[in-house]
Amino acid sequence: MAVQPIRLFPDPVLRTPAAPVETFDKELRRLVKDLTETMVDAPGAGLAAPQIGVSLRVFTYWVDDELGHLVNPDLDLSEDVQDGEEGCLSVPGMAFDTRRARSVVARGMNMHGEPVVISGSDLLARCVQHETDHLDGIIFIDRLDAEGRKEAMRQIRQAEWFADQAIAVSPHPISSRWL
Ligand code: ZN
Repeated sequence: MAVQPIRLFPDPVLRTPAAPVETFDKELRRLVKDLTETMVDAPGAGLAAPQIGVSLRVFTYWVDDELGHLVNPDLDLSEDVQDGEEGCLSVPGMAFDTRRARSVVARGMNMHGEPVVISGSDLLARCVQHETDHLDGIIFIDRLDAEGRKEAMRQIRQAEWFADQAIAVSPHPISSRWL
């Protein structure tokens, strides 16, 4: 079983721009396998490597029964846009209306280092944009307007997973000197 724990907002790895993959080796193939298994287990429509703590430019997707992955993606976006609900496995249990390009052409490589092109619209296009954002340290709530972001932050602060996490990583060290 290679299902990995999914990092939650505001884990710093989610804010770190990921490095391009330079070596197409066994490690990379294992990463793609881990991402795929973790995404399917969640289940999610997409998962980016930083979400399992690996800062490399790799994501997987699972849209319309098609499982795939892309390494070092480079996107061409349509001018035509789509509005619709979007969520994130790193911000669990929430969805917000997020504007995205309607369609996308994504160029990159597969895990064997061969060039691939993924063209899609609607959900696949949304997924590819969302996951590529993760590789740039961008979380989908950054794409909301000011009001949407405020509402998203309000819901996040109230979420149980966020509170549990805040307790686990309290920045205040416990010391008998500080009362
Ligand atoms: Zn996400």
